[in-house]
Amino acid sequence: MPDLTEHLAARIALDGPLTVADYMSECLLHPTMGYYTTRDPLGKDGDFTTAPEISQMFGEMIGLCIAQTWLSQGAPSPFILAELGPGRGTLMADILRATKSVPNFHAAARIHLVEASEPLRTRQSQALDGYEVEWHDYLNTLPALPLFLVANEFFDALPIRQFIRDKDDQWRERRVGIANDSLCFGLSEPQKVPALQSRIADTKSGDMVEICAAASAIASEIAERIASDGGAAILIDYGDWESLGDTLQAVKNHEKVSPLLSPGQADLTAHVDFNALSSAASKCNVSQMIPQGVFLERLGITPRAQKLAQHLSGTALTNHIAAHRRLTHPEEMGNLFKVLALVPQGHALPPGTE
Ligand code: SAH
Repeated sequence: MPDLTEHLAARIALDGPLTVADYMSECLLHPTMGYYTTRDPLGKDGDFTTAPEISQMFGEMIGLCIAQTWLSQGAPSPFILAELGPGRGTLMADILRATKSVPNFHAAARIHLVEASEPLRTRQSQALDGYEVEWHDYLNTLPALPLFLVANEFFDALPIRQFIRDKDDQWRERRVGIANDSLCFGLSEPQKVPALQSRIADTKSGDMVEICAAASAIASEIAERIASDGGAAILIDYGDWESLGDTLQAVKNHEKVSPLLSPGQADLTAHVDFNALSSAASKCNVSQMIPQGVFLERLGITPRAQKLAQHLSGTALTNHIAAHRRLTHPEEMGNLFKVLALVPQGHALPPGTE
């Protein structure tokens, strides 16, 4: 048995079956055996690829969106330019490149990254060579200044709990236990779950609903900061307006695998419930949930793609056209990924989200 499985088995023997959230936390962030704590999982040779790794155009559009929002709030100086879960630092590097010519934007920006993974912090410092950067374990240590924040594929890595609707208003929680020396899923006894009371009306017996307490807590903290200090947040992830069904997913070498098969060796994610994020951020003016393809088109990704294409030929041009399609087309990432933006009450929403 690999070490993390042994550790999980010992914990289950001691405490009983784990919630899916505890299982996800151990798999992703165990200090010495966790998925993110021990590796850089991104890119073609890794396990999965994200929008900023597909094309520089993604970060360019976000950069212009943030800079425009910063200008419309009176160009506060200094301000925090923050990213949650910056991966290889590619998105932040593209944001900074795209905003170089915005007067005073770089002089005013203080770059702060919230990142749990040491190997990825190293990648980020390489990508942002020449910039002054501060890292944080959590967003509560970000200085109290206007906060312009982006998070791409961060919320989907946060631990979820899963519940199956039983009869009446009772739910059984899905848990991870051990049978015949292997990890397996089981269900708790039926119980009332106050946090799911609002889902009694729109679910039936047998339906699965997921709750991500960490996502709501983080969205609420971001919203409080923006409501009091100014700024904006652009949150991008895959998911939908309301959680329904089992979306826990493990990916290894760009293939889906069973979430229990190789703990700590595969990426584990779940779809983001944008209604939950939006409700948690109610101190702010919150945008509607916008499909990523629509958001990028509104920001002008197609003219930008055409401009870049003028300098390309052969395979580079084919790849560039494929990347544009992958980011925006409804059958690729365009519809699965959604965008939610926050600004202080009474302020204009960021371009592309209004
Ligand atoms: N935003 C990047 C990477 C997405 S992968 C991109 O689009 O390419 C998820 C990122 O979130 C990784 O950097 C991972 O290390 C980080 N992460 C996951 N859980 C975290 C947590 N609880 N706290 C801080 N960072 C976390």
